[in-house]
Amino acid sequence: MKPTLIRPAPPRAAQGAVATPIMPSVVYAADDPDALDAIYEGRAQGHTYSREGHPNAAALARAIDAMEHATGGLVTGSGMAAVTAVLLGLCTSGDHVIGGDALYGRSLRMMADDLPRLGIATTLVDTGDVDAVRAAIRPETRMILCEIVSNPTLRLADLDGLAELAQQTGVLLVVDNTFTTPRAVQPLRRGADIVLHSVTKLLSGHSDAMLGYVAARNPELQRQIYDFATTTGLTPSPFDCWLAERGLATFHLRFERAQDTARILADHLAAQPGVTRVLYPTRPDHPDHNRAQALLDGQGCNMVSFVIPGGRAQTNAFARAADGIAFAPTLGDVGTTLSHPASSSHRSLSAERRAELGMPEGFFRVSVGLEDPEALTGIFDRALTAATAD
Ligand SMILES: *Cc1c(COP(=O)(O)O)cnc(C)c1O
Repeated sequence: MKPTLIRPAPPRAAQGAVATPIMPSVVYAADDPDALDAIYEGRAQGHTYSREGHPNAAALARAIDAMEHATGGLVTGSGMAAVTAVLLGLCTSGDHVIGGDALYGRSLRMMADDLPRLGIATTLVDTGDVDAVRAAIRPETRMILCEIVSNPTLRLADLDGLAELAQQTGVLLVVDNTFTTPRAVQPLRRGADIVLHSVTKLLSGHSDAMLGYVAARNPELQRQIYDFATTTGLTPSPFDCWLAERGLATFHLRFERAQDTARILADHLAAQPGVTRVLYPTRPDHPDHNRAQALLDGQGCNMVSFVIPGGRAQTNAFARAADGIAFAPTLGDVGTTLSHPASSSHRSLSAERRAELGMPEGFFRVSVGLEDPEALTGIFDRALTAATAD
């Protein structure tokens, strides 16, 4: 019997495919050493080893680049991988980093624990208050990391003020645009130096792919971020990239629909006697309403927070009675999800501290999905009735 080739020549390309094929290959063959040199030196397109990059990551990165008005952005294995690539890829022992005091939980934890352990000092401040941020700047301050709409109280950072301050002081402004998405704000066009995402959330949109994205305006910074991410293996899976690219195709439609429903739900909840407070950026009773109008271009996004009176018995009753709505600590899914900071993202804080931050026990955050608005408000009404009955 003749020996057979274990690896017969694979198809060179799926010519004419309308949808991007999935390419899980970890390694790519080159014709000869010169061809490999050309790829490594950027003179020829191609891939070598998938930790360094692969076709599905590249396809997704180019799609998000177009939305963020970025070039050469990098897709990472999670949103936290993107945060890590920026903080650890660009900062050195002795540097100082300023972060928003209401950042995503794990970003806060990196600011509070990991950076100081590595000799990088951190200060957390309210990024809605530019004077407070200015006061925190030191000669060794390397960057400011902020989110535009805070979690879960939906307060707005003063993005324009921060961009001006960063420019005046030579400090890098890094914006986590996960909540707001490029549909509402394009940070690089408003003076930010770096934009990043948890693609896991709205951009991918189906809670089945975990990914991040990061793009710097300066190509040298982007190269440092890329090198750090590649060396430390913050690489995304081709299959997740493929799913996210598919999700991204409907992002604008999903965003519009979820936002329209979020507005309806916010107004509906505000009219219910069993609700003591509603937070939605475009509502006139939102504390940062004017800034939201100016910054988000009339968009309110898909997140609504609200407060019901009472304690754990009432919040348990509400969550159990919200039939068909996943009680799950995430956001941006096609289905509406409900989360409760006191038992999830903010559980490490004392009840007193949470109350000070505007998050009493009865505080819920809703990520509005694509359900029929009337069906959705009906579910919330039934949950409110159950919470009041308990
Ligand atoms: C979820 C999230 C992250 C982290 O993203 P993962 O994909 O879960 O690692 C970072 N920032 C914000 C604002 C998030 O919501």
